[in-house]
Amino acid sequence: MNHPGTTSRIAGFHKLDRTGRIDAVARFAGLDVQERSHLENTGNLPADVADHMIENVIGTMNIPIGIATNMRIDGRDRLIPMATEESSVVAAVCNAARQCYDNGGFTTSMSGTEMIAQVQLTDLPDPHHARLRILEREAEVRDLCNACDPVLVRLGGGFRELQARVLDTPGGAMVIVHLIVDTRDAMGANAVNTMAETLAPHLAQWTGATSRLRILSNLADRRVARARCVWKVDAIGGPEVRDGILAAYHFAAADPYRAATHNKGIMNGVSAVVLATGNDTRAVEAGAHAYAARHGHYGSLSMWEATPEGDLAGSLELPLAVGLVGGATRVHPTAQLALKILGVGTAEELARVIAAVGLAQNFSALKALATTGIQKGHMALHARNIAIMAGATGEEVEAVARALVAQGRVRMDVAEAELQALRRGRG
Ligand code: NAD
Repeated sequence: MNHPGTTSRIAGFHKLDRTGRIDAVARFAGLDVQERSHLENTGNLPADVADHMIENVIGTMNIPIGIATNMRIDGRDRLIPMATEESSVVAAVCNAARQCYDNGGFTTSMSGTEMIAQVQLTDLPDPHHARLRILEREAEVRDLCNACDPVLVRLGGGFRELQARVLDTPGGAMVIVHLIVDTRDAMGANAVNTMAETLAPHLAQWTGATSRLRILSNLADRRVARARCVWKVDAIGGPEVRDGILAAYHFAAADPYRAATHNKGIMNGVSAVVLATGNDTRAVEAGAHAYAARHGHYGSLSMWEATPEGDLAGSLELPLAVGLVGGATRVHPTAQLALKILGVGTAEELARVIAAVGLAQNFSALKALATTGIQKGHMALHARNIAIMAGATGEEVEAVARALVAQGRVRMDVAEAELQALRRGRG
């Protein structure tokens, strides 16, 4: 048995206040006074707000927010707050947007704001018959669902459509019911989960089935945001650059190993805005990757073509279940500010902006890969992180980073040597 302070079995940890929890963690991990006070400082997220957001809170994790400039979307200029720990991501969007600004920037659209909730029904001897018995009750289903969320209905949202499928599984045939619900300016997970849970016993009663899972699908393919843009061939460095980008896209379209990285680059931009606005990054990531595999093989989320004039045309489509209300969007003060900077009035507008950011990010990544390689631009910024890791502080960070880039050797050992030399020179 472990001694107190070395065991993870801490009874009542959740009942302690934050100081009590920090005490317990400090005992377990041997944290000193400075380390404790680092945790105590929750920055610009008030401690009591953090404490209400999740369980067992001890502190917060600050992530930088950078602003992407140059974005012009549907004829309107926007500044884009992006929360990310990765260097180059913000710069990539600024660069891509600069190169298409004079040509009008990005055009966006969206398929709707409908979410899907699933109810799983098993133990049915007659699944096909049961499926029809369910579909006959659409009017009742509508009323039951809408009664769950009068606020949503008042705002023009609510139940839209009932679907039912017979699914062959290793455990036999099941009936899977889909509730299609317009969740307007909410991401809608809680809204549709409540509807699915409310409906499930009725479905079981109508069919004689056992109702099992009742939860939304993150493959939100009724909530697909689209962005397109044309980069003038002269604005991006000529036909060779264009053809390099096209070849990079063709590679991603044909190979899942490449497509995973290609789409990760898109999500660098997408997730940074999703996070800055207090939305659920995992929900959006899950939806995007599932959508990328919807044809039975995992492929590129974006498409790249040459226009008849020889310019470069990019398009991106992905599910974007994001909201302006619900979750952390209204609770986190920084998320509220990010939404104000973006100037979006609806969840649809937010999703469309995010799709444009994803396309911009993709352009820059492909251009860098097709020309100088990703490390040149990345390393200049990464050098600062390496300098900090080597112990540089204040003005030393920039000086050491510059030296690393000048030598073309962005490495810890070189940073340590440069820092020592700098300090010797000063001393
Ligand atoms: P929510 O329930 O907090 O808020 C949505 C509700 O706000 C609506 O149901 C409606 O009653 C009300 N509302 C007020 N103004 C509105 C408007 N203009 N438009 C729409 N609704 C309005 O939040 P939610 O969006 O239902 O759920 C989001 C949260 O659920 C996120 O934190 C997410 O992380 C979490 N979640 C996600 C999953 C998943 O993705 N698999 C599962 C469970 C929970």
